[in-house]
Amino acid sequence: MKCTRCREPAEVQLRAHNSAFCRPCFLFFFKRQVERAIAHEHMFTQAERLLVCVSGGKDSLALWDVLADMGYDTTGLYLGLGIGEYSDESHAKVEKFATSRGLPLRVIALESEAAGMAVPEVARFTRRPACAACGTMKRHYFDTAAFEGGFDVLVTGHNLDDEAARLMGNVLRWQRDYLARQRPVLAPTHPKFVRKVKPLYLTSEYETAVYAFMRRIDYIVDECPNAAGATQLIYKDTLNRLEAASPGTKMAFVKEFLRTAQPAFAEVDRQEPRECTRCGMPAYGELCSFCNLVRAVESKRRPAAAGASA
Ligand code: SF4
Ligand SMILES: [Zn+2]
Ligand SMILES: [Zn+2]
Repeated sequence: MKCTRCREPAEVQLRAHNSAFCRPCFLFFFKRQVERAIAHEHMFTQAERLLVCVSGGKDSLALWDVLADMGYDTTGLYLGLGIGEYSDESHAKVEKFATSRGLPLRVIALESEAAGMAVPEVARFTRRPACAACGTMKRHYFDTAAFEGGFDVLVTGHNLDDEAARLMGNVLRWQRDYLARQRPVLAPTHPKFVRKVKPLYLTSEYETAVYAFMRRIDYIVDECPNAAGATQLIYKDTLNRLEAASPGTKMAFVKEFLRTAQPAFAEVDRQEPRECTRCGMPAYGELCSFCNLVRAVESKRRPAAAGASA
């Protein structure tokens, strides 16, 4: 197998792109894909300050690596979710990455914040699935960190596989609200929100894994222990089978949705957010979903604490 670009022996085959690449050409291809996504969707410019959400996994670290390499003004943001060894290990990987490249990193440990709540505790008290609680908390801390830090853009490492699985979930339940917001760039709907972008939305998980390997990025390989039962994984598995039978399926699914269907969903009437009466961040009700969660935990914690001291 020869490299599509330079005819040297190829190291990696990308069936969805009908291509094969040697190492230097793959790194060139990967970077060009990200550059094109940024330019095509007008995600950000060199003059803007980017806050890059990093989990310690391959996608977010590969993204931070490639953006820093392109000369963008990046700061990493790591959230300590309090999920045992997984959080300890992922935190260590992110610190090591930032230090080795001399990049600025902000770390927020959820247990040390005012609400003092880590993901497992919130899930236990509210009887919600861990991922639902985690999603609400992540969104809140990402938004507040971006706003308070004066950043222009919030960047996440969602890749093509994530976007295709999410699209499948949203379509299977016809969640019009979510479909209306499933875009690689979300313009802020409130002065306290910043633009949210996903530069890897057309880059597959396999490609980020290859990139991370070639760039010697030391990332956390283990999944979060809560991921095992997540429906998202079932969708990913299904999509992988479709992709194996017909390469390019995921790309066509996401691209064609964005081109043909998404604009129609985006016209669905959406309420403009007000401000949460508790934390001041944008909210669609009196409280934002994060403060609703905090309130639910507080109401459960009090009787538990009283029981413990009795
Ligand atoms: S798998 Fe669920 S709990 Fe774990 S980090 Fe992802 S969203 Fe959070
Ligand atoms: Zn080559
Ligand atoms: Zn709030």
